[in-house]
This record gives sequence, structure tokens and C-alpha cells, in this order.
Amino acid sequence: MTQIPRAGVIGNPIAHSLSPKLHSYWLNRYGLEGSYTALKVTEDELEKTLRELPSQGFIGANVTIPHKVNVMQFADQITDRATLIGAANTLIFKDDGRIFADNTDGYGFMANLRQGAPDWNPKAGPAAIFGAGGAARAIIVALADAGVPEIIISNRTRPKAEALRDDFGARISVIDWVQADKMLEDANTVINTTSLGMVGGQDFKVPLDNLRKDAVVTDIVYNPLKTPFLMAAEKRGCITVDGLGMLLHQGVPGFERWFGKRPEVDEATRQAVLS
Ligand code: NAP
Repeated sequence: MTQIPRAGVIGNPIAHSLSPKLHSYWLNRYGLEGSYTALKVTEDELEKTLRELPSQGFIGANVTIPHKVNVMQFADQITDRATLIGAANTLIFKDDGRIFADNTDGYGFMANLRQGAPDWNPKAGPAAIFGAGGAARAIIVALADAGVPEIIISNRTRPKAEALRDDFGARISVIDWVQADKMLEDANTVINTTSLGMVGGQDFKVPLDNLRKDAVVTDIVYNPLKTPFLMAAEKRGCITVDGLGMLLHQGVPGFERWFGKRPEVDEATRQAVLS
């Protein structure tokens, strides 16, 4: 008897994750046999869990906070983009027990931006990025890959932005957090990758008066869907793209590898996840 393929998302905390809703919706929509569940795994349990999951019918998993970096040491094969980013969010368990690791966050970010702003041209001008955390790393790799000519980063903790510049090279420059609004003057792509603006968190307070009206502006925070940052950009006439699509698109490559069908990200998918 063939086992029903299982996948899940590994993290801690994990109860808030929207991934089970997303993948279960796709399984149902395409009439596929399979399951996708949330797996609460502490740092101490990570290796043991990864070794045990295949014998329980798991063919792969997504990985989220706090394991995206640590999981790399247990992978037998790592894609170039995951190596470059230094973190993985998608695992495939091979029949011979080997673990294949990829990072699809940058892919999800780009696919969302291209869907939400179809006329966006990454090569048309500099990108300005607020934040220098894990998500920013994946986004910088994706933007550089898409041909963005210059990437300006501003982060509250400046050395973290400088470390990204050191890792990713000449196209990147750093601006002090207290002068972050200066990087908006020429930017045609503006991205908030900080957690500022999230429900229950602190407000995004950098003034956006220098924002160009023709800039494409996106926030990777998706709770709320329309953050104050996006509202301010919209008020200035900018095209804005919310962060939910990044989460939905980053799930596509994993779902396709595990369940054999490339799923669509459309309004029905958004509504299923938000319901
Ligand atoms: P992270 O590695 O912890 O980085 C957090 C970033 O936010 C850092 O740049 C940090 O600056 C900044 N920050 C936090 N509090 C701040 C404050 N009070 N003032 C100024 N800056 C502040 O987290 P991450 O994984 O990159 O995730 C960042 C956000 O993106 C989270 O809200 C996460 O939920 C969201 N996210 C969304 C998606 C999606 O699919 N849409 C994917 C990944 C992440 P410091 O370096 O100074 O601390």
C-alpha cells in the first residue's frame, strides 16, 4: 500500500503559521492526496525530527523561525540560492534519506512583486530597503539577480546592513537609520523588510516625503494587509503591493516538488488563506 504523502512546516512558535491553510487549500483544490501540518519543533529537537520525518511518510517540509539557518547543517544538498542566502525554508526528503534544501523566499518576493505590479522594471533604478534581517538577505539576492542596478539598505542596527554589503558587494550601499528617508530620493523600488507596522508591534516612523510618485512600494509585513507604510505610499500615488503574496508564492516550489502540481496563486488562494 502506498503511503499518503505528508509535508509540514517546522518552527517554534508555529501555531500562527498560515502555511497549513495554504497547502491544505491547494491539496483540496487540485484533488490531490496528501496532508500538510504544523510541526512545533524546538532547537534541541531539530536534527532528531528531520531524521524521523521521512519514516513517518514525510516527503518534505517548510522551515520557519528559528530554524532557517540551523537547518542548513543537516542538508546533504543545498541550492546555490540557499547557500548564498545562508538559510533554507524548503526541504525535500529523498528516498535514500538525503535532505535537499532550498530557499524560496526571494522567489516568493519577486513573484509577488511581478504579479502585483506587472509593469515594474527592476533595472529602471535603485531599490531602497528598510531592514537587514533574514528576509532582507533573501530579497537582496533576488533583486541583484533580477538586475537591480543599485541597492541601498538602511537598518536600525547599522553593522547588520554593513555585513550584507560586505557579503553581497559593490552594488550595495548603506545609509544610517536616522537618514533613511534620503535613500528614497532616487529609488524606483522601495521595500519594508522590518517588522515595523505589524499588528501589536511598533510603528514605522521614517518620513516618506522623499518617495517618488512612480516608485513601486512593497511591505513584507502582511498583518495587517495594508500597513501604515503602504497606506502612506498609496496616498502619494505609488503602486503598492502587500506582503501576503510573498508568503503564498514562496510555497509554490515546495508544493510542486512534493505533490507534483504547480499551484496557482490567485484571488481564491488569498481568500482561502485569509478566511
Ligand atoms: P529578522 O531577521 O528578525 O529581522 C527583523 C528586522 O526588523 C531587522 O532589520 C530589525 O532591525 C528590524 N526591526 C525590528 N524592530 C525594529 C524597530 N523597533 N525599529 C527599527 N527596526 C526594527 O526578521 P525577518 O525574518 O527578516 O522578518 C522581518 C519581517 O518580515 C517580519 O515581520 C516577518 O513576519 C516578515 N516576513 C514576511 C514574509 C512574507 O512572506 N511576507 C517572509 C519573511 C518575513 P535590527 O537589525 O536593528 O534589529
